[in-house]
Formats: sequence, C-alpha cells, structure tokens
Amino acid sequence: MRAYCGATSSERIRKEQVEGMSENNAGDELAAATSEASLAASRQRSRDIEADLAVHPERWRVLTGDRPTGELHIGHYFGSLANRVRLQNLGVETWVLVADYQVITDRDGVGPIRERVYSAIANYLACGIDPERSTIFTHSAIPALNQLLLPFLSLVTDSELKRNPTVKAEHEATGGRPMSALLLTYPVHQAADILFCKAQLVPVGKDQLPHLEQARLIARRFDERYGRSVPEHPVFPQPEALLSVAMNILGTDGTKMSKSKGNTIELGMDADTTAKLIKKAVTDSDRHITYDPVHRPEVANLLLLAALCSGDDPVAIAERIGDGGGGALKALVTEAVNTFFAPIRQRRAELVADPGYLEQVLAAGNAKANAQAEATLDEVRTAMQMKY
Ligand code: ATP
Ligand code: MG
Repeated sequence: MRAYCGATSSERIRKEQVEGMSENNAGDELAAATSEASLAASRQRSRDIEADLAVHPERWRVLTGDRPTGELHIGHYFGSLANRVRLQNLGVETWVLVADYQVITDRDGVGPIRERVYSAIANYLACGIDPERSTIFTHSAIPALNQLLLPFLSLVTDSELKRNPTVKAEHEATGGRPMSALLLTYPVHQAADILFCKAQLVPVGKDQLPHLEQARLIARRFDERYGRSVPEHPVFPQPEALLSVAMNILGTDGTKMSKSKGNTIELGMDADTTAKLIKKAVTDSDRHITYDPVHRPEVANLLLLAALCSGDDPVAIAERIGDGGGGALKALVTEAVNTFFAPIRQRRAELVADPGYLEQVLAAGNAKANAQAEATLDEVRTAMQMKY
C-alpha cells in the first residue's frame, strides 16, 4: 500500500513508465506490504473502512473463499466464517469462492473434491451465509475468470513471484516439494478472483497482505497499459485489505488447527466425536488453570475456545476452574463448543440431507459468477482491442 498511496496518478504513471515492471521495485513493494509502517497504515485504513461499512455497506463488495482441501473447522468459524456472515448481514455484497483449482497447487490429486465442495457449501449456509444475498461459486465453473490469468500473467515477472513472501511460505509448508507453476502463479490467480468481480475489499490476515498488494499491482498495471484512453474510469478498482484480528485457534495437537493436518474439530462433527477429540487435546502438567497465552498456549487455546463459544472472559473462566485441572477445563470446553455449534450442526445436517438444494445453490452462484466474469472479460478484451 505504502509504495504508491502518496504518489499522484501522473507521478505513478511516469514511475511505471520509467521502471516498467522493474523486479527490484516490485519485490520491494510486495515486501513493504508487511513492513511495520505499512502494517500500521493498513490497520488504520481497515478501521476507516469498518466505520464506512457500518454507514454505507452498499458501497462495498467483498470477496472471500476457501480451498476445499479438507473439512472446514471451528478455527475457520472464529477466524473467518463468522466475519463473512457479519459483513453480509451488514448489507455488504459478498462473494464466496470455493477455490477448487487451487487445491492442486501443492498436491498431486484433488482428493474427494466433490464431497468437500458441497460440504463447504453446507457449512457456509449453516453458519449463516445466505445464498440470496451472497454468491457462492467454484473456480472451475467460471471459464472467463480463469481466462483473466493470461493477460494478468503478462503483468508480473517470474522473480517477483518467486520473491512473493506468501508463495515462499506456502512452498516451505510443502516440505521441499518442487514448486508447481500453479503455486508460483497463485497470487495472480487470486488477483483474477478478486478483480473479475471487482471486489474492493478482501478480509485478510496480515500474512496475506502481499497477495493483495499483487492484485493491486496487477489492477494498476493493467489500467496503465490498456486503460489510458479513459484514465478516470479504470477497468479495475484497487482492492483493499480488511485486516482481521489475528486469530490462531490451535488444533488438538497444540499446533495451528489446519484442515490438512488431522488436528481439527470439524464444523460438521457430532457432539461425541468433539468430546473425544477435546479429551485427547494436548495440555500441560500444571493442574492450576491460568490464562497465559505465551507460556501455556495449549491451555490458553482451550480457554479461548470456551470464551468464544460462551461469550465469557477467558481469565474469568480460568479463575473459576482454578485447581480443577485439565479434566475440568476440557469438560467445560466440550460443553461450550457443543452448545454453541449445536444449532449450526443441526442446520448443516438438514442441508446435507438435501443434496439437490446444495447443487441448486451452487448452480445459481456459478451462473451469477459467470455473467460477472464474462462482462469483466469483455471489458478486458475491449481495452486490449481484442474484440472481434
Ligand atoms: P490448509 O491446511 O489447506 O492450509 P487451513 O485449515 O489452514 O487449510 P486455510 O484455507 O489455510 O485453512 O485458511 C483460510 C482462512 O481461515 C485463514 O486465512 C484464516 O482466516 C482462517 N483460519 C484457518 N485456520 C484457522 C485457525 N486455526 N484459527 C483461526 N483462523 C483460521
Ligand atoms: Mg492454511
């Protein structure tokens, strides 16, 4: 954000003409997206946007999504799904992508993709995403979205992608597996996801800021290259980050709960399975329960879960348990989680029992996304003088 916020539009265009896609320059901009100063600016901007969302929700369009690499879990609920529902209910137009093509960035096969896609949709609806107000769609069903990748790829360099901090982190997480070209280019695919529907807002954690910076660079470069005939009407808006409060729910093994790690409590699990998993969750040997996220992360995580589910304060919960030990803590967390998710799980079970309805929701979302993607691609081809 920092890199060009302060520059006037003519300065920016001149800078871009002189430097083109200078690799150092682009690398700096992406790295700068996570610098302290830029982070502070992004936080302030997010607060300003939040204030505007409350007053003018109709001005904003949000894109969010998930890779269907596994079942959505309670970490997703508190870390992102609840916020999507909140934005939707404020009146913000919300687009929700099930990023099926992105499953194969870092794995050889798609897994039980069909089940996972419909399961994700059942979870969205059960959590409160309303298909009348939000558009749920899948990558693979939207050809015009994917076609945007071609012109967009011409606007980035290979070294810019190789140095993208998020690409590097994702690659490291694969444990030294050779990087697929799809993983390397996934920030560009994500730019297509954001820009095809002209979303101005993307809820992200701070680690995803470089992605958004890449999407902004692509939007700007496209318009500078092809949209200069009417500079005041750029083809693409500059999408902005809505920084979410960092939430890091740990899994039963004490590391970050992740759908591909086998350490999750899934949204769709039943109460007994949830109880068994929480019983096995890693804690520590100190029987006196305290809320100390730094020194006792596993115990603190359980207290946080109980707090999120009950609306209570984690410190107060810890004080109530006192010397009751891990057993009492886990019993309390189990009760809180199962009570909180019971209505969501009930709705989810009803939805899963009606696959025809889920198919209908996705077909309608895909039809809407296709119409939008075709309109955007049409503008892109017009700007590129490739309309025949
Ligand atoms: P994968 O194992 O495929 O990486 P994941 O479970 O880590 O899956 P992601 O798809 O990487 O899930 O995460 C999508 C978003 O969900 C994150 O950006 C974050 O907002 C939220 N999220 C995921 N896991 C957690 C968690 N453990 N705690 C809080 N939020 C989470
Ligand atoms: Mg992850």
